[in-house]
Amino acid sequence: MEKKKILLLGSTGSVGKQTLEVVRQFPDVIQVQGISAHKNIRLLEEQILEFKPSFFCVTGDLSEKEQKKLITKYPYIKSYFKPEGLLSMIRDSDAKTVVISIVGQAGIPPTQVSLQTRKHVALATKEVLVVAGEEMMKLAKENNVHIIPVDSEHSALWQCFRSGKKEEIKKLWITCSGGPFRDKEKWPLEKFKEISITDALNHPNWDMGNKISIDSATLMNKALEVIEAVRLFQIPYENIEVVIHPQSYLHSAVEYCDGSIIGQIGTPDMKLPIAYALFYPERPSLSFPKFSFFGKTFHFEEVDHKRFPSLRYAKKALQQNKCQEFNTANEQAVSRFLKKEISFLDIFSSVKASLE
Ligand code: MG
Repeated sequence: MEKKKILLLGSTGSVGKQTLEVVRQFPDVIQVQGISAHKNIRLLEEQILEFKPSFFCVTGDLSEKEQKKLITKYPYIKSYFKPEGLLSMIRDSDAKTVVISIVGQAGIPPTQVSLQTRKHVALATKEVLVVAGEEMMKLAKENNVHIIPVDSEHSALWQCFRSGKKEEIKKLWITCSGGPFRDKEKWPLEKFKEISITDALNHPNWDMGNKISIDSATLMNKALEVIEAVRLFQIPYENIEVVIHPQSYLHSAVEYCDGSIIGQIGTPDMKLPIAYALFYPERPSLSFPKFSFFGKTFHFEEVDHKRFPSLRYAKKALQQNKCQEFNTANEQAVSRFLKKEISFLDIFSSVKASLE
């Protein structure tokens, strides 16, 4: 059997590394044709040696000397540099699926070129849909390829959609862990101004990159996910509800017109949605630890919009058609927070200001 070729963009990030863990389980099924990293050359080289891709790309700034060094070291691999090089790598490839796990809006051009060259996109970068969702969905349709969500909630919803027709859907329930500051007793609003980077990066359930960990702490991640769902599934904001579920066992659910709610449950592990996206429409047999109901408690509560106004901002952004402004303001604020230039609360005010 011919192997399924994939390109993995952002291979040294959190989703990238977990994608390679999935690939390791299927050496005879999946072939990593190309990988790209922004600046973690050391890890990229390890991945080159292990997965032996035909192409690699470094999108970050490298001096000519550094580029030469890499080219001479791997003469049998076609190398590409800079964001423009990444687009050439996609064009030169005949991979079936491109996994996009590049942080932020930088994921838009590679998604666009992947769809234009008729490759399925397994999309982990939610900003792509938030900022350019309508355009990307149109491109996917025109080229007869899928945008398959790698985000756990959207992957869950996609899986639940198999239970009914679109016109039978009444509501999407998107679950949210609540992040590290969910507990109102421990983290009342008055204490929010003291929140440090370490506090904010300490996510209870998921192993993720810095940007998304901060977004989970502010619930901006959920706000972005609601917009992502509106774009990807073409379902209005009014039919989407966010519910706090701290255990992250239920990854989201679809309520149908008869009142039945179909949900997807599993261990909180990104490798599940990654594998679903890589193998879609089939389900692979995975050897990762499985979920068991025994001894588990499922807890649900409403979002505290007073402490976390993010979802209200998302609604406003959608109404005013300002999703790009919303996303840019958040990206900039998070990066400034991580550089200790602004406080945690300033993230909310920066995003709010972008909608006024
Ligand atoms: Mg998610």
